[in-house]
Formats: sequence, structure tokens, C-alpha cells
Amino acid sequence: MKCSRGQNFSEGELQRFGNIELSPSAGVLNYGQGLFEGLKAYRKQDGNILLFRPEENALRLTMGAERMCMPSPTVEQFVDAVKATVLANKRWIPPPGKGSLYIRPLLMGSGAVLGLAPSPEYTFLIYVSPVGNYFKEGLAPINLVVENEVHRATPGGTGGVKTIGNYASVLKAQTVAKAKGYTDVLYLDCVHKRYLEEVSSCNVFVVKDNVISTPTIKGTILPGITRKSIIDVARSQGFQVEERLVAVDELLDADEVFCTGTAVVISPVGSITYLGKRISYGNNGVGVVSQQLYSALTGLQMGLTEDKMDWIVE
Ligand code: PMP
Repeated sequence: MKCSRGQNFSEGELQRFGNIELSPSAGVLNYGQGLFEGLKAYRKQDGNILLFRPEENALRLTMGAERMCMPSPTVEQFVDAVKATVLANKRWIPPPGKGSLYIRPLLMGSGAVLGLAPSPEYTFLIYVSPVGNYFKEGLAPINLVVENEVHRATPGGTGGVKTIGNYASVLKAQTVAKAKGYTDVLYLDCVHKRYLEEVSSCNVFVVKDNVISTPTIKGTILPGITRKSIIDVARSQGFQVEERLVAVDELLDADEVFCTGTAVVISPVGSITYLGKRISYGNNGVGVVSQQLYSALTGLQMGLTEDKMDWIVE
């Protein structure tokens, strides 16, 4: 789908996957005017295809587009385009229980622009790829390191939207952490250097005495759709969930820590290294709460349990 600045997106079309042509002075290449989304389609036992809350991705894209001075497709256009792309790629969706089809919508300033300004033209496209289950044999814990020098986002910046530049800013810290054997990086706020923000592509939760806490959404962390869903699922199961400032010291006596995101759903944390000290969590990180919430959410997403929340789109 394409449109000019100030216009609405018109009907899109299906095209075979391949390279796209862009002007060297396209807004996305020069000024980072790009946003993306990530969601999954699952094949159910009866052959039906399930999408999980696609309208939430559409709304997050719309919010991001406003911040990045871009037009966005309507929620209806977004969801219809996702459905059409998934249907056209139905044969690539793995059998039930074997994985899913990862869907990547991209919105970019594709028009040529030399001086700093919003692009005159925009392209919205969607590509897909089959992915296996993130965890092949049950939940496997990850090992994080708290980053003290690099911050993912600043107040007033673009940390709260899914723009491509946010990922460029974490590449170095993540590469260094991986080279040292960590799975990923846990970022702190850049003002107090004391409160948890998020991991490179996941939100973070801390469990203490059966109370589940997660950092408040305040413009510097991404409002994850899995985060929002886990909060609702946990509350519906009777857990107390607090959205608040979570201090890094709280990691020291937490019972469990876990991350949430579309790719992993829930990723239990086995250890966190903070200022050179390694904090390990019980049962190698796979806590009772993480396990329970993982089963509840994946059951819903794969169509194995009743969708009381009305989150599934067939
Ligand atoms: N934070 C960041 C920075 C991310 O890239 C993602 C992945 N989209 C998340 C959190 C989790 O968001 P979601 O649950 O919507 O996948």
C-alpha cells in the first residue's frame, strides 16, 4: 500500500516476496522514518488460522505513526491486510504445536527527501516467515546483564513507539553482552539510573510473594501487547499485578523474573548480572508463576483453551 503525505492509504495488493526499490534519499534510509510491528498466526487442530489481537498492533502502529509524522493505514485496513497476507501464505503456517507464522508489518517514509523533513511518500507492506516454537522442550531460562552506560530511550524520545531507530541504539550493548555469554540486556531509566525499563525486545516482570510488578508505561518503554495480555490473564487468575517504578535493587530478593514479547510469549530469567554480581533465581529460573502464565497465554493463542477475553481473530 502506498500514499502521499497528508493522504490516506488506498487498497493494497499481494506481491511475491522480493527486493523493493527505494530512492537513496528515501526518508526511512536517511532520517529513520520507519515503524514496524510483529505478530503471529497459529494453525489450530481443526485447520482454522488464529491471529492474536491484531487490532492492538494496528493501534500501536497508529500511535507510532503520529509520533513519527507518518500517515498510517486504518485499523480495518491493517487487519484486512494481515489476514490477506496470512491467507496467501497459508501453506507456510506450521502444523499445530510446531510453531507459527511470524508476521512483520512495516511502515516507512519511502519518498525522496534531502533536507530533514517528513517524507513526501509512504509505503506500508507486510512480509511473513514461518518460525518454530521459541522453546522446543518446555521453558528455558535466559541470562540477562543490567546495562549501566547505554540507555535504550530518553524521556521525550521515541522509546514508547516501535520505530526502527530504537533497535539501532541497542545493537552495540546487545552484541557486547552476547559476546560475554549473556542472552540479552536489561536497561535502566536514564534519569535516576535506578529503575527497570525493559530488555532489547521484551518487557520485564518481577514476582515477589506472589505479587507481580512491571515498570509503568511512561513513554520510554514499548507498550507490549504480550505485557498487556499477561497483566489481564494474571489478574483474572487472582494475582495482584502492580504497574509502578520497579527499582533495580528489587531484583536482589525477587522470587521470579520473566520477560514478555510476541516472539517468546514468556521467557523466564535464570540469572541477572548487576554491577558484576550474579543474582540467580530458584528452579533455574523457571518459576511457578512464569510457568502458569505461559501455559495460560499460549493455550489461548493456539486455540487450546476457551477465549473468554475475546482476543482471538479467526
Ligand atoms: N519491548 C520492545 C523494545 C520490543 O521490541 C518488544 C517486541 N515487540 C516488546 C517490548 C514486546 O512487545 P509485544 O509483546 O507487543 O511483542
